[in-house]
Amino acid sequence: MLFFQLYKYLYFSCRKFAYLPKKQYLCRAKVFKMIKNASYIISSPDVKDCPQSTLPEYAFIGRSNVGKSSLINMLCHNPKLAKTSQKPGKTLLINHFLVESQLSNIQSSISNIQWHLVDLPGYGYAQAGQKQRDALKRMIERYCLLREQLVCLFVLVDCRHEPQKIDLEFIRWLGESGVPFAIVFTKGDKLGRMRLQDNVEAYKNRLLDEWEELPPVFVTSSETGLGGEELTNYIESINRDLVTAGSRDNE
Ligand code: GDP
Repeated sequence: MLFFQLYKYLYFSCRKFAYLPKKQYLCRAKVFKMIKNASYIISSPDVKDCPQSTLPEYAFIGRSNVGKSSLINMLCHNPKLAKTSQKPGKTLLINHFLVESQLSNIQSSISNIQWHLVDLPGYGYAQAGQKQRDALKRMIERYCLLREQLVCLFVLVDCRHEPQKIDLEFIRWLGESGVPFAIVFTKGDKLGRMRLQDNVEAYKNRLLDEWEELPPVFVTSSETGLGGEELTNYIESINRDLVTAGSRDNE
């Protein structure tokens, strides 16, 4: 009986990791090594109020409940980061965090660099009235178009859902406006491996109906750490290009 209980416990606690390739599960420590520290700076009502800084910015956006705070917290290894700064009301603002991370260069030496992580309010915020939704839309669009420091906008999509009109419209608008973006599927642990793959493929095919090329796509889970390494590596690779381009300009 005891053996059965133990077996059941082990079976259910391991099940959610069962479909993950070993490397992905083991790499969590590596993810957390790259981001050393992250702290909340400021919440701004408009792009013109955002920090005057030349640091590169990576922004996260998605509909309410998509798992944005959880993903930010997972990447920064701080379960309270996004929630503590997002007191009621602040979710409708542009939230800036200062991140310090390690950048390994070609010679494998490591340097510390800083960048901004930006938590944007969700478009189509359900509880808001039409007037507030329009104001929010304008604020998001102004940020995307006018924030020169923005190097990549991560658009979060719940992997369990069919492509939603509001997400597709927003993605189309990003493409037409020339805003650099990537798609991040969230809550990957909530589906079995095959279902997850099918949903992601279906989404990509839907995008290919109107796009010649796909943007970078990441599949993540804040529960298991899935995709954390890929996402932070992607940010690191852009940071490395920016540092290299910056030192070339100074020559
Ligand atoms: P936000 O409104 O987009 O910031 O979403 P939250 O990060 O607050 O997440 C909304 C709900 O989804 C919470 O109950 C989270 O615990 C849950 N959640 C978020 N990410 C994941 C995930 O990767 N896996 C699972 N199983 N639940 C998640």
